[in-house]
Parts: sequence; C-alpha cells; structure tokens
Amino acid sequence: MPLPEIEPVDVFARSALATEATPARHHQVVAAAAAGKRAALVYPYRAPVAGSLTEIAPGILWLRMPMPMVLNHINLYLLAAGDGWLVVDTGPATPEAMAVWKSLFAGPLAGARIAGVVCTHFHADHSGLARMLCARSGAPLLMTPMEYFWRLAWPGVLTELPAEHAAYYHECGFPADMALEANEIFATFALIQPLPLSFRRLREHDALPHTDDDWRVLIGHGHSPEHAMLYSAARSVLISGDQLLPQISTNISVTAIDPAAEPLSEWLASLERLLAIPDATLVLPAHGLPFRGLHARVAQLQSHHARVLNRTLATCTEQPCSTYQVSKALFPGPLKGIAHVLALGESLAHLHYLARRGDVASALDESGVRRFRARREQPA
Ligand SMILES: [Zn+2]
Repeated sequence: MPLPEIEPVDVFARSALATEATPARHHQVVAAAAAGKRAALVYPYRAPVAGSLTEIAPGILWLRMPMPMVLNHINLYLLAAGDGWLVVDTGPATPEAMAVWKSLFAGPLAGARIAGVVCTHFHADHSGLARMLCARSGAPLLMTPMEYFWRLAWPGVLTELPAEHAAYYHECGFPADMALEANEIFATFALIQPLPLSFRRLREHDALPHTDDDWRVLIGHGHSPEHAMLYSAARSVLISGDQLLPQISTNISVTAIDPAAEPLSEWLASLERLLAIPDATLVLPAHGLPFRGLHARVAQLQSHHARVLNRTLATCTEQPCSTYQVSKALFPGPLKGIAHVLALGESLAHLHYLARRGDVASALDESGVRRFRARREQPA
C-alpha cells in the first residue's frame, strides 16, 4: 500500500495505517464530526539545519535532531527555566545524536545550565539519551510514572522471541517463519540508554517544574501509556510530542506486552480533549514542522481512524479473519521487519475497538489462532 503522507516513516511514531483510503462511509462514533473537514494546516517555519538551535519564540528553542531511520529527524525543544534550560526529549542513543549534543555543549550551549530533562514518553527517540543528559548536567529526569515504569518493563535487546510474545504472535496468526522479524522490535532498545534510576513525576495539569507558572502538563493516551504534552496558554504554544503530528498519523498499536489492550478508544478520547485548546495555538510536534490548525488536524485524524474502522469491519464481514489477515487486507503492499509488527499491532487495535463496541466477535480456532467476524446485527 502506498504511503502518501509526505513525511517518511519512523518505527516509533509512524502509523503503518497512515494512508488516505476510500472516503468514510460512516462509523457511529467518530465519523460524524470529522468527515469532510480538510482545512489546510499552516506551517510558519521552515525546517532548520539538523543539529542547530532555532529560536521559535522567546524562551523556546527548536533543535532538529537527525536520526538514522526512514524518518530522519526528531524535533527537540529547549524551554527557558530560570537561568537555565529544560530539555524536552533527547533523541535516540546514536553516535550521531551524541555528537550533536557534544557540539552544542561546546558551542551555543557552552556554560548553559540544564535544569531538567523532560521525556514526553519512553520511546527511543524521545528518551534514548536521558541518562547521558542527566548525568552530564546533574539535572533530574521529568517523566510521567507510567512512561518511566513501562520502559523498565521492556526486556531490552533480545536474541530470541520470548515465549509470552511468541504466544501473542501465534494467536494473531502471524506466520511462524516471520517471528524473527517480529523480534526486530527488541533491536530498537539498542537506541535507549538505561534510564536514570530516579525521576520526578509529571502529573496532568501540574505546572512544569523550573519554568514560570504557565507551562502545564497535559496527558494523552493510546500511542504510549501516559504521554506528556506541554501547553502554555499565555504563549499559545503546545508541545505535542507524538500525540499530534502534522503529516503522519501516530502509531496506535496493541503490543505483545499488553495483548488485551484497547488503545484506540483512549487515543480518540485524547484527540477529542485536544479540541479544548484554541485552534490558533502553535503546535510544536516531535516530527514534521510546527503548525497551526490544531482542530483541522484532529478532524483529519478522526476521519482517518473512521475509515480504517470501516475497512476493518468490511474485511471481517467477508469471512472470519485473523489479525494477520486483517493486517494484510489493510496493508496489501510489501512490508519488512518491524513494519509488519506495527501493521499487526495497529490492526489489532482497531479490531479490539470494534470488539469492545460489539461490532465484531472473536473465537480461537482449532489451531489457537483468534478469528474475528463482524456481527450480523450491528448495535444501534
Ligand atoms: Zn512515540
């Protein structure tokens, strides 16, 4: 399946389903408010040179950090914090990213005090160098508790697929000879240093420590367990992390570590809550360009998931399908490695959403593969 969005793919942020599919027919929950809203987003800034610091507004610096992936960058931000700076996200633990930090600390950040290191969530590009930055500066790590402990729950780089995870892939109908590809997800943990062994917790609506009273913590769910965003009403700025990206849709996946999860409802609820923020707010995302048009982007993403839900339901109407079969229907193009896992996880997220609503039912077949079928009578 072609991936027409203009930004390339990142294994951490990118949805495998970020395609413009057939127009939404309907879906009871999300389509009504979203369909047809395609207002253009406005991008006030061009991408800066990778590795350089750009002032977006007084007290807000933008650092475009290069990454050795298909998605070739992450946006990091530095916020004025008294006589120092708060670093928001770190980049992955790659030699390239470490070299950028080294050159900044030898150049424009020479002598600058780092007051804290905020990680919006645990994914490698966001928290990979937290340990180095905290150790170097003596600054605390600021994270939500679920993100901090969720990272600790992942086993790190492994050479074999753990039995619990193998059981997940089997129930999904994932071909056994592709299990090795599934295991590539653990290789991403080579890009995260072990986290510092203490952290300061971020809680929803709290003022961000070390800054003026206006930066507030907002929490989103669905992409990762307790994703922090930072919002300043006075500045009319939202640092959205991966919760709201302008050009790619965020990956919403069930994973082997929490196979019964239903993250799509949480994701859609988080999107809805963002509509309380004024539309004119400047959104500073982790990937892509800063933009205005928050409400339009929320509507686009709601519409995207409505289309995917319709396609998922249609697939399970034709015959009972395994998660893997649904993923092949949603992504007929060739996939490699971890993209398979993301497609599988995103397909299961949409199936679990439909199952929770009673739109599909599932049962294990004689070989232990779970098959989903559309219920003949749709709930009103
Ligand atoms: Zn992420």
